[in-house]
Amino acid sequence: MSHSPDFALAVLDWFDRHGRHDLPWQQAVTPYRVWVSEIMLQQTQVSTVMPYYERFMARFPTVADLAAASQDEVLQHWAGLGYYARGRNLHKAAQAVMAQGGEFPDTLAGLEALSGVGRSTAGAILALGFGQRGIILDGNVKRVLARCFAVEGDPAGTAALARLWALAEELTPHQRSGPYVQAMMDLGATLCTRSKPMCLYCPLQSRCQAFALGTPTAFPHKKAAKAQPVKSAFFLIFDNPRGEQLWVRRPSSGIWGGLWCLPEVAVESEAELRAVLAERFGLAQADLQYLPPFRHTFSHYHLELRPVRVSGAPNVAGEGECGWFSPERARDLGLPAPLLRLSGELG
Ligand code: SF4
Repeated sequence: MSHSPDFALAVLDWFDRHGRHDLPWQQAVTPYRVWVSEIMLQQTQVSTVMPYYERFMARFPTVADLAAASQDEVLQHWAGLGYYARGRNLHKAAQAVMAQGGEFPDTLAGLEALSGVGRSTAGAILALGFGQRGIILDGNVKRVLARCFAVEGDPAGTAALARLWALAEELTPHQRSGPYVQAMMDLGATLCTRSKPMCLYCPLQSRCQAFALGTPTAFPHKKAAKAQPVKSAFFLIFDNPRGEQLWVRRPSSGIWGGLWCLPEVAVESEAELRAVLAERFGLAQADLQYLPPFRHTFSHYHLELRPVRVSGAPNVAGEGECGWFSPERARDLGLPAPLLRLSGELG
């Protein structure tokens, strides 16, 4: 059964009248600008991305500017968006593009070879950046298609995913593939939303199987929800007489990779903390003053941050890259969001 022409026409007609046409990355379109926007939009909403995108583009207007910058500076411009691997990959990919002569690859395979660019992002860059036919299947499009065609099964599972890709392939028109791609993303983001789809306004309503079944939000099927584990860690505040704190650079892999952070001690009890203070920082007798703990949620777990002021001068010989910075200076380095919040309570 072929669904394509009138499905695409309905989507495009809706887009021409109601879609978003004034997003920053829809202006002065280049593959570079589209690529940066697509990476930022992975896991992050349009409204959050916009100010970051504008600042990023003002500082790195071309792929050459991005490739020439230090990773530190790139991450500073990324700080607050979360999922920092995206920022590191963007930088790496810019350097790869420059190493190949500075031209963005214009094939699916060439784009997919760039760090951080998967099949759907590559499809979006082809369609939006190059005006070629490109197929996308991001979270929004998955939801729209899973509902329209009542696709059974967990959309991350092999069978459902294959079915969704096949549908995306079949439905994407050969003409106006860029506007169609943008339209499907907009439809998912604005009408066919996760918890309150506005079927009344939807151009696909008459062909939507989930709507006909009366259960739009039952699709896409979810995996049985697992309770997210809670981890906790102490974050140490060492003050010096100049009102500065000790900050350490995190290793480049793992959460907040490459960013500056207060020293973290991932243990549960004060007794364990004291043992670490003695062994790692040479502080056997420190006074501890606890600040209110708070939670930060990652995609797979919650982290309870337990800030604690520690008296005494720590031995930092084993800390790798570290430094004493005022809270203002630390904020300029680009801190992970919860540390940014904590830095407001330091000085
Ligand atoms: S009719 Fe409702 S469930 Fe179906 S695609 Fe439109 S908004 Fe989504």
